[in-house]
Amino acid sequence: MERTDIKSLKREELCREMEALGEKKFRADQLYQWMHKKLAGSLEEMTNLSQELRRRLGEQYEYICLEIVEVQRSQLDGTCKYLFRLPDGHVIESVLMRYRHGNTVCISSQAGCRMGCRFCASAIGGLVRSLRPSEMLEQIYRIQKDIGERISNVVVMGTGEPLDNYDNLLTFLGLLSDENGLHISQRSITVSTCGIAPRIRSLAEEELSITLALSLHAPTQEKRRELMPIAVRYELPEVLDACAYYFRRTGRRITFEYSLVGGVNDSREDARLLAALAKPIHSHVNLIPVNPVTERGYVQPEKGVIRAFKEKLEEYGINVTVRRELGQDIDGACGQLRRRYLEG
Ligand code: SAH
Repeated sequence: MERTDIKSLKREELCREMEALGEKKFRADQLYQWMHKKLAGSLEEMTNLSQELRRRLGEQYEYICLEIVEVQRSQLDGTCKYLFRLPDGHVIESVLMRYRHGNTVCISSQAGCRMGCRFCASAIGGLVRSLRPSEMLEQIYRIQKDIGERISNVVVMGTGEPLDNYDNLLTFLGLLSDENGLHISQRSITVSTCGIAPRIRSLAEEELSITLALSLHAPTQEKRRELMPIAVRYELPEVLDACAYYFRRTGRRITFEYSLVGGVNDSREDARLLAALAKPIHSHVNLIPVNPVTERGYVQPEKGVIRAFKEKLEEYGINVTVRRELGQDIDGACGQLRRRYLEG
C-alpha cells in the first residue's frame, strides 16, 4: 500500500492523523514545525519526538525530501539554478534569484508540461507527472536551507502549468503562506498560467491574495494560436474575461507576460493592440526578450526594437517593465538545465 505523503497534509489533516495514532495535539504541532518551519531533512532530526513515534511515522508515512543533484551559480549576478531529484527518480529544476529586496525562488509545478508552447524548452518531452504539494514546497525548503537565508518571494513560473495541477497547487499555497510554516505572504507569491480560463475563474473565488500572471505573448487570437496551442481551446476573449473577473473579484492587478520574439510579435501595431488589452483591467506588462529557440528560428528583437515597444506601451499609459535577464552564463532559460541533464 502506498504510504501517505505526510508533508502534503494540511494542518487540520495532520492533526487528525496524529489523533488517530493516539498522539496529543501538541505532537502534531511539533511535527508540523519540524516539517514546515525548521525544514527538517529527515524524521531522525526531530529530536523532541520519541524514537518510537519517529519509527511509527516512518512506517506509516512517506517523508518527502528532494535531493540536490546539481547547482549552477552565475558569476554575473548570483542567480542559482538547482536541479533536484524527486523520490521516484525524475528530475526538476528551480531557480534562486537574488534581488536587493530579497530572495526569490522560481519553482516547477510539474515534471515536464503538456501545454506545448512553441518557444518553451519544458514542452519538448511532454508531461511526466504533476508535483505533489510537498514536492513544490521542498524546492523552496531545500534552497532556503542551502543558502541559510530566508526566501521572501516565490514565483510558480518554472516547468509545468500550475493550473493543470490545481488541487495540489492550492494545498501548496496554503502550506507556504501558513503562519506556522515559512509564512510567506500571499502578496509575495505569483502564479503564472498559460490561460486555462475556467481555472482562472475558480482561482478568483479561493479568497487568496496572490498575484496572477497570464502568459499572453500575443495581442490577437490568430497570433497567439501560432505560439500557444492552449489558445485553440481557450480563445483570447474568454481568457481576458476570466482575467477581468479575477481582478474584479480579488482587487489584485494581473501581470501580462509577453515574450518578445523578433519579427513575430514585436511591431508597433502589436504594441498598440497589447495596450488596448492591458488598459481596461489595469494590468502590468512584463516584457521578456525570448530565450532563443534555434529549432524554430525564434530570436530576440534588436535592443532598439525592445526599447521602442516598451516606450509605445508607456505612451498608452501602460505600466511596463522589461525582465532583467539573470543567469545568462548558466542554463538560464526555462527548462534548459533539466533538458541538458535528460539529454546528457
Ligand atoms: N505554464 C505557466 C508557467 C511556466 S512558464 C505559464 O505558461 O505561464 C513561465 C513563463 O516563461 C511563461 O510566461 C512562459 O511563456 C515563459 N517562457 C517559456 N519559454 C520561454 C522562452 N524561451 N523565452 C521567454 N519566455 C519563455
